[in-house]
Amino acid sequence: MTFATMALSPALLQAISEKGYLSPTAIQAQAIPAILTGADVVATAQTGTGKTASFVLPLLQMLSNETTEGTRTRRPKRFRALIISPTRELALQIEDNIHQYSRHLDIRATAMVGGMTYQQQKQKLIEGIDILVATPGRLLDMANQRALHFDEVKTLVLDEADRMLDMGFIDDIHKILNKLPKQRQTLLFSATLPKAIRKLANSEIHNPIEITI
Ligand code: AMP
Repeated sequence: MTFATMALSPALLQAISEKGYLSPTAIQAQAIPAILTGADVVATAQTGTGKTASFVLPLLQMLSNETTEGTRTRRPKRFRALIISPTRELALQIEDNIHQYSRHLDIRATAMVGGMTYQQQKQKLIEGIDILVATPGRLLDMANQRALHFDEVKTLVLDEADRMLDMGFIDDIHKILNKLPKQRQTLLFSATLPKAIRKLANSEIHNPIEITI
């Protein structure tokens, strides 16, 4: 398996090669083609396996397909992909990864985490973004202030779901899930699959492709 055989655009392949990656890691080889089919995915993978790129690359591919399609010329104002991560550090790392992989694409991503002013974050939303990366607490805060509109979300990524459970975010995750469109693609990444995560997966994720690394 190579990146070039994966139905990724030349702009993405160029960014991958500029990162110095020669071939996909095991999780990337399985998750990227699975996600590109539009299916829900439950992936068991540890940090350090290249799991961030395994969801960021297909997300960017799907978003750039939509943006260049047909007569759509205006940038959609509302985010179409939502990535939820347990910590501020991880969210910022994911945002940084997205910026690197999208350097030849017209896609905007921003992280919404504690420590930034609400004003700064609201300004980014007004300017229009394609991908929102957020921690559960800040995301709910913004949603409760009616600063966020979830109606355009096509893909949801729950990253490090077991850590979110350990950190006590499971109720917040359920509250967020209730705000999202029912028709969407859901991708769940977790190092382990404890009972509560399986339960969440069973109720929120439909006929997933399961990947274990
Ligand atoms: P992650 O598991 O997403 O935290 O990634 C771990 C590290 O692997 C990061 O430093 C990535 O830049 C790097 N990495 C991701 N994919 C590849 C790849 N296909 N080849 C080489 N390094 C990679």
